[in-house]
Amino acid sequence: MTRIAIVTGGTRGIGLCITKGLIAEGYKVAALYHGNEEAAQKCAADTGAKVYKADVADFTACQDVVAKIEAEMGPVDILVNNAGITKDGMLHKMPEDSWHAVIETNLTSCFNMCRAVITAMRDRKFGRIINISSINGQKGQLGQCNYSAAKAGMLGFTRALAQESAAKGITVNAICPGYIATEMTAAMPQEVLDSIIRQIPAARMGQPAEIADMVVFLASDRAAFV
Ligand code: NDP
Repeated sequence: MTRIAIVTGGTRGIGLCITKGLIAEGYKVAALYHGNEEAAQKCAADTGAKVYKADVADFTACQDVVAKIEAEMGPVDILVNNAGITKDGMLHKMPEDSWHAVIETNLTSCFNMCRAVITAMRDRKFGRIINISSINGQKGQLGQCNYSAAKAGMLGFTRALAQESAAKGITVNAICPGYIATEMTAAMPQEVLDSIIRQIPAARMGQPAEIADMVVFLASDRAAFV
């Protein structure tokens, strides 16, 4: 039986590597994206994933896209909540919309997507939910009150849903990546990146594939007790 996975933000960066990693293990992947059509079409052509455009911050859009994926691909076994954005700035200068956009895209999206898949997972007594949080949700980061709050919120959400779901054969986990070389971090000033790399014990940034490998493990049957 081929398992079906949804990867939000699955067409670029870390998400693209997760999409590739799951496909390499034999899963069928629905990769969600928001606006970058070029990356989405390239992902579909290169990986064989089906790509779906949906705003994960929009509750109804999530319900609709999951219904479409179920109709076209089958029941969803694995959900990777990877889509995320940053809108950095010191709190005393942060516009209200930067707060809401980051909370809704990184945190509310987990509610929206999980709410759309959880009932069917409970009925089928199998599921894997993997939320991509961040080291900055654990330690906080100057200029990221919005992002740090959203990513810390994902950890509480993950722990609570894990407790609700374990007896139904559904595992819920979060990964907190350190700094990974993607377009998100490429947008940071080089001097900021240099100072961050000096604090990383491995003295380098991580690669997207190094996060994807952990997702592939957590999605597998071997991770049933994690
Ligand atoms: P990228 O900016 O490279 O890619 C983000 C992806 O999310 C894109 O596919 C984008 O779609 C999608 N996305 C953004 N907003 C929405 C939305 N509203 N609805 C649907 N999809 C959306 O990010 P990374 O690969 O760097 O990061 C992936 C995840 O990992 C994020 O949650 C991030 O916070 C987290 N993370 C990243 C770290 C890093 O150092 N890079 C470190 C720790 C955590 P589109 O292509 O259409 O724009």
